[in-house]
Amino acid sequence: MTAEYKEILYDLLRTSSPSGYEEQTIDLFAKSIAPYVDEIYTDVMGNCIAHKKGNGKKILLMAHADEIGLIISHIDEKGFLYFKEIGGLDTNVLPGQRVLINGKNKRIVGVVGKKPVHLQEQSDNTKDFKSEDLWIDIAVNNKKEAMEDVQLGSIATVISDPVLMSNSLVSSRSLDDKIGLLILIGVAHCLYESNSDYDIYFVASVQEELGARGAQTITERIMPEIGIVLDVTHATDYPTMSIIKDGDIKLGDGVVIAFGPNMNKEVTHNLLNIATSNNIKHQMEIIAHPTGTDARMVQVAGSGVKVGLISIPCRYMHTPNEMVSLEDTDNAIILLTKYLQNSVN
Ligand SMILES: [Zn+2]
Repeated sequence: MTAEYKEILYDLLRTSSPSGYEEQTIDLFAKSIAPYVDEIYTDVMGNCIAHKKGNGKKILLMAHADEIGLIISHIDEKGFLYFKEIGGLDTNVLPGQRVLINGKNKRIVGVVGKKPVHLQEQSDNTKDFKSEDLWIDIAVNNKKEAMEDVQLGSIATVISDPVLMSNSLVSSRSLDDKIGLLILIGVAHCLYESNSDYDIYFVASVQEELGARGAQTITERIMPEIGIVLDVTHATDYPTMSIIKDGDIKLGDGVVIAFGPNMNKEVTHNLLNIATSNNIKHQMEIIAHPTGTDARMVQVAGSGVKVGLISIPCRYMHTPNEMVSLEDTDNAIILLTKYLQNSVN
């Protein structure tokens, strides 16, 4: 992956975008993709649409801008903050983490506290934490002090700066699905010089983590013939995973093409043929039900859309340290660019 793409990815990962509060990420996405498209706009929901003009037939490429996060729901007399989860957050991984809160006028660091191991009963250690069992400490003396910086409804995300590891693997929070946004930017960049018969809509969607809500409204507005969704999928190449139950998906073994009733046969086979004939490293994933991605809503929007789903394998999804391969990401950019050049032009 080029240094330029890596920098864009890291910048995206440093933005904070819990579902419904995606503005920071959307702004950066718009700025990054703007040089390669003809127009950019946002809709009522906050979806960002970057449009490369063609001759009227429409194809939609979509990745979601939102991530899981926290929303402050209670402040006690001592100034400790309580929260609710936005999206499918694993609260068991929160104790001991730092979080960044979008406060009234500035971003504030907080710590998710926990009783020290020395003082715990055994039941403290084996407990499944609910959000009401946890609190955020922002180092203030009381509620009044806390409320100078934070209000009910302030949002927060775990602090987990991106880090490059061995074998081109990168670890960070919110690779789900900022890696998809990077792919959109990469594909727009690669297609910049070519003309297309299709109008291509690169969409950063909102509220995917709450049930693909942004995907539904924007797909019904654009009503494309084809919609390709980019997201992460579970890698199964680490302890405790089952390749029989969850598929045989490895980091670094290539971009994942999904098969199943949520995906259109023709689109999926085109993607597979292009991957095979161009020697693009790829893997297959079988999903026998509506997927837990934007593809679920894109397919059934309006009178229906031909859907493809392309995924990047991801370890430890929805934890502070998700992990993906930059090589798989490069493969996804190449596959989609070839698909758009070969099948669509
Ligand atoms: Zn996702």
